[in-house]
Amino acid sequence: IRVTFTPIHRRETGIVGTIAVLQDVTEQEQLEASRREFVANVSHELRTPLTTIKSYTEALEDGAMADPELGPKFASVIQNQTERMIRLVTDLLHLSRLDSKEAQLRKQPANVMEMLEEVTDRFSFQMQEKEIKPTLFVGNGVSTAWVDRDQIDQVLDNLMSNAMKYTPEGGTIGLEARIKEDGALEISVQDNGIGIPKKDLDRIFERFYRVDKARSRNMGGTGLGLSIAREIVKAHGGTISLQSELGKGTKVTFTLPQYEQGGDGA
Ligand code: ADP
Repeated sequence: IRVTFTPIHRRETGIVGTIAVLQDVTEQEQLEASRREFVANVSHELRTPLTTIKSYTEALEDGAMADPELGPKFASVIQNQTERMIRLVTDLLHLSRLDSKEAQLRKQPANVMEMLEEVTDRFSFQMQEKEIKPTLFVGNGVSTAWVDRDQIDQVLDNLMSNAMKYTPEGGTIGLEARIKEDGALEISVQDNGIGIPKKDLDRIFERFYRVDKARSRNMGGTGLGLSIAREIVKAHGGTISLQSELGKGTKVTFTLPQYEQGGDGA
């Protein structure tokens, strides 16, 4: 709340009173503060790879290029950092399209079982490499969801990729789909990885929020995966939540209306 005092003057007697205006500015200021924080985060996230690229390019120019070992090594650092910037900018553009509501969802009926099988297929190579075992459970009555398939694939990919990143070798990742009591479709991705400390749980869907910045970056994360997932689920009229226990694992659950909203539900 902002309070402004305006004194009331009378020529003969001086100050005779004061007008106090109480203004609720908290929401506005919070919005402004989070916008500033977002811009600072973006700048920092872009600056880090750019600084690395700059110094490695200089080292190449200063002679490393002619070194048969250092040359290719430095070039691959530059390539990695460039790819990281591309990932970041792609994620930012995606978020800004979701924010502006300019991206119309192209909802179509999608077979849920197929959708989940395909996401495990996309990660099968990585899972084999890490000896991670996937499990898939599709409950009674789960058949079709009315979704923008590309967008929901993105949600599933983000959640799977997190489960992969934060689960050590030999772990398990479970995908589940079931019908809730209220008729909504519920999909979850569960892992038995490192988990998230309690104190971070409240902020985990915020843009750029990470438990461990260095670890996330090393894993190639942009810190935007969960916020993008949340925006997409929201756009579909669903909700997303996360449960986690440090050292035990994490489960992310989202809901989707099963049929086109406003349809006859049949
Ligand atoms: P990132 O690109 O860093 O993975 P996300 O928005 O996808 O960004 O996730 C934000 C943070 O939440 C991660 O940095 C990580 O600390 C934590 N996190 C997300 N998913 C998991 C998971 N399955 N297990 C443990 N930590 C997770």
